[in-house]
Amino acid sequence: MTIQELEARLVRLSPVGYMEVSTLAEAQGVEMLCPGCFAKNGGPRGTHIIIAWFRGRAVPDDVRPGPGRWAISGSTRDDLTLNPSVDVGCWHGFIRDGKATGA
Ligand SMILES: [Zn+2]
Repeated sequence: MTIQELEARLVRLSPVGYMEVSTLAEAQGVEMLCPGCFAKNGGPRGTHIIIAWFRGRAVPDDVRPGPGRWAISGSTRDDLTLNPSVDVGCWHGFIRDGKATGA
């Protein structure tokens, strides 16, 4: 499934938590619905959010979730790739070229 279907939003830290931004250049992380629970629930209802903070984007070490930080490639949300894989317990897989796939 695409991360667009998972309602992915590019975000950066703000004084009240984090806020959505429009470009990958200014983003410090990505928020989306959990791919595993989205599939299990058949959609967004009851599905929790996951956040991956980006490496090298000045995200403080104490910002949760952590300590994982992801290297990114791509030019927009819709072709975003994260390295390494993402493991949130209920889902372990890859975000590559804007798509979430199981490991
Ligand atoms: Zn989940």
